[in-house]
Amino acid sequence: MSSLSTEHKLPEIIIPEDYNYLAFFISLNCNLKCHYCINLNDKNSARKDMAKHHMDGSDWAKAINRLNIGRDDLPVTLQGGEPTLHKDFYRIVNETDDSIKLDLLTNMAFDPEVFIRNVPVKKFTREAKYAAIRVSYHPGYNDIDELIKKTLRMADAGFYVGIYSVLVPENKEHIDDVMARCKGLGIDFRVKEYLGFDGEKWHGEYKYMDAISQHERKSCLCKTTELIAGPTGHVFRCHSDLYANRTPIGHILDPDFRIEQIFRPCDWYGFCNPCDIKVKTNRFQIFGHTSVEIKDIHELN
Ligand code: SF4
Ligand code: SF4
Repeated sequence: MSSLSTEHKLPEIIIPEDYNYLAFFISLNCNLKCHYCINLNDKNSARKDMAKHHMDGSDWAKAINRLNIGRDDLPVTLQGGEPTLHKDFYRIVNETDDSIKLDLLTNMAFDPEVFIRNVPVKKFTREAKYAAIRVSYHPGYNDIDELIKKTLRMADAGFYVGIYSVLVPENKEHIDDVMARCKGLGIDFRVKEYLGFDGEKWHGEYKYMDAISQHERKSCLCKTTELIAGPTGHVFRCHSDLYANRTPIGHILDPDFRIEQIFRPCDWYGFCNPCDIKVKTNRFQIFGHTSVEIKDIHELN
C-alpha cells in the first residue's frame, strides 16, 4: 500500500453503477446505550477498540471529495454511533464539496441552534422521497418530546428532518401514538422493520437465513454493493466486519484504493450482520435486493 499521504490531491474513487449505499461511520461513540445496539457486540469490543481512533475532519472531507459518484441519487451517509459527536463534524460537512449529497443518521444529540449556525441547508438537501437527516427515536433511551422540539426547529430553519423508530410488538401502542402526534405536527415519522432475534425467532426477511445463525462459521465467497468506511478510515467488506473490527480491505485515504467488484473469500459466514443480508428495496425501488451476494458456501477448512 502506498503511504496514506493527504498532502496531494488524491486520485478519484469511482463508485460502480450498481452501488447502493456509501456509509461513512465517522464515529462509533454514542451518548446513548440502547441495549439492542448493533454497534455494540457482546463484548462491546468494536466501539471500544475504534472509539479511541478517529480520522480527523479534514481527512474525512478529503476522503468524501475523492469519490466520483456520478449521480445525484446516491448520497454519502454520515452515521455511527452518533456521528455528530465527532469533534470535527461541522468541518467534515463544510469541507465536503457541495456537489456531493450528504445524508445524516443521528439520535439528535446535537444542539439544533449550533447545527443551524454551522450548516448551510443545501448540504443536506436533495431530491428524494425521504429525509436527508434521519433521526432515530429509541423509546426509553432518548426523549420524543425533545426530538419533536428539535425537529420543528430544524424544519423552521429549512432542513428536511424525519424521525424513525423501530416497531417492536411491545411498543406498538406507544409508536402509534407518536406517529399520530408527529402527523398532526407535520413531521415525517416512519417506522423501521425490527431486525434481529427476539429470543424465539428472527425478524426480517433474509436471503441467506443461516448467515445470521451466530453459532456456526462457514466459508464462502462474498461480494458487496456498499462502501463501508469505519472511524479510522478503514474500508470493510460488510457491516459484520466493521462491528467486529476484522481485517479491513483497504483505507479510504490510500491513493491506490479503488473499489473492486469481486467475490472475496470469507470465513465468517454464519456471523453476518442482518443489515448485509436483509432483503430490501434497491435505489430503483425494486424489492429483492441484498447488500451482499454470497456463493460457494462450504464447511470451514
Ligand atoms: S443511538 Fe444508535 S448507536 Fe447509539 S446506542 Fe442507540 S442504537 Fe447504538
Ligand atoms: S459472508 Fe457475511 S461476514 Fe463474510 S463478508 Fe459477506 S456479509 Fe460479511
